[in-house]
Amino acid sequence: MEYEVVIGLETHAELSTLTKLFCGCSTKFGVEPNTQVCPVCLGMPGVLPVMNKKAFEYSLKSALALHCEINKFTNFDRKSYYYPDLPKNYQISQNYYNLGVNGYMTIEVNGSTKKIRIHNVHLEEEAGKLIHPEEIGTNYSLVDFNRAGVPLLEIVSYPDMRGVDEVDSYMQTLRKILLYMDVSDCKMQEGSLRFEASISLREKGSDKLGNRVEIKNLNSMKAVIKAIEYEVGRQSKLLDRGETVARETRLWDAVTERSERMRSKEEAQDYRYFPEPDLLPVLIDEKWLHEIKGTIPELPLDRKLRFVEVFKLSDYDSGILTEEKVFADFFEECVKILNRPKAISNWIINDLLREVKDRKLDIHNLPIKPKQLASLIEIIEKGTISSTIAKEVFSEMIQSGKNPHAIIEEKKLAQISDESLIESIIEKVIATNPEAIEDYKKGKKNALSFLMGQVMKETKGKANPKIVNELLKGKVGV
Ligand SMILES: [Zn+2]
Repeated sequence: MEYEVVIGLETHAELSTLTKLFCGCSTKFGVEPNTQVCPVCLGMPGVLPVMNKKAFEYSLKSALALHCEINKFTNFDRKSYYYPDLPKNYQISQNYYNLGVNGYMTIEVNGSTKKIRIHNVHLEEEAGKLIHPEEIGTNYSLVDFNRAGVPLLEIVSYPDMRGVDEVDSYMQTLRKILLYMDVSDCKMQEGSLRFEASISLREKGSDKLGNRVEIKNLNSMKAVIKAIEYEVGRQSKLLDRGETVARETRLWDAVTERSERMRSKEEAQDYRYFPEPDLLPVLIDEKWLHEIKGTIPELPLDRKLRFVEVFKLSDYDSGILTEEKVFADFFEECVKILNRPKAISNWIINDLLREVKDRKLDIHNLPIKPKQLASLIEIIEKGTISSTIAKEVFSEMIQSGKNPHAIIEEKKLAQISDESLIESIIEKVIATNPEAIEDYKKGKKNALSFLMGQVMKETKGKANPKIVNELLKGKVGV
């Protein structure tokens, strides 16, 4: 039988606020365990939560960017479950009045676009972290509550994805949107962005959904893809044998690359959701909504398509430029100063990105300013320096932060266009290389490029190659 794969994703993104969702504790990652805690996030009796407005606004911003309908009346609920890293034994989340519902996100797959519907976007608190010591013989686990209470945005998609290509694009697109809006640092290696996939199979052509399996413990985008591929294989084998797929939650093991049954799927009623009595509902008025809307930048895919349309860049180049907002901004700033989009794009993609990678530069604090790159390109176009020398100047600009003019002056890199000076160098080169002239007269055409190379060497690459070429041809009698 032929099957269609049906995939939905749940995404958790830690919001990059300075403090936690309901208390003033810091959210800084990687500090000494249990040093960023207080009675509120430790769930002591009698304490009361106070909402972090910034976290709420980041959530609102994200819901709007994902084209959700916004619930003007939104409330928080208690989700009851026991887990050692959850000190209150319940999590404050949203169930009855999610902040945003019925949205969508446009993804790009193999050159065409597709809308993936978003079921809801809501805000909740993060749990702590259990640490299981790996030394043989230890029979205990440790718990770090620094993470408990960090604001967590949950984005739930509809099961609209039909293969790993779409899943991959969904994850990349969502990550880029959150980064563009500066609401999460999206560091998967630190757990601030996590995905869970639900996968089911159905007979091709059927519109009935099959039993779905949820996969947890996916620590990288690669793991998500591998787990889906594994699960598709496992489920199709079951279905081929006429068996049913159990509705369950499975854990992915990245080492063995297999999923293991964790528990049968819990239902909403298992969590005993009820409205959080310690928090007031949040009412969103038009003015606030309008303000937040105003803080949403142009989103990555829109920006990429605009770059192709307006600046006539290739789809590939636009994709690279808009991968990080910083570089897309840098590009546009440069174009405002000098209308040479193609040259600017080339310099950013080939040189700036390489320098950033090689020197491990902080992209939010680049040593080069758009104005400086624009003037470098102008200098090249005027013929003051060759493109080879320009690479040297660029590297120096990155190193010292100096203007290209200053570097060219200091290092005397300006191109030599003085014909009489070039002529005298050519004469010297010809005099010291009589055999090359002989070769040339015998018909060895590459002897000319050899002489050309000698002249460039004499001038440390600074002679204007066009002039050298013309004068040289005159001298050897072409
Ligand atoms: Zn706290």
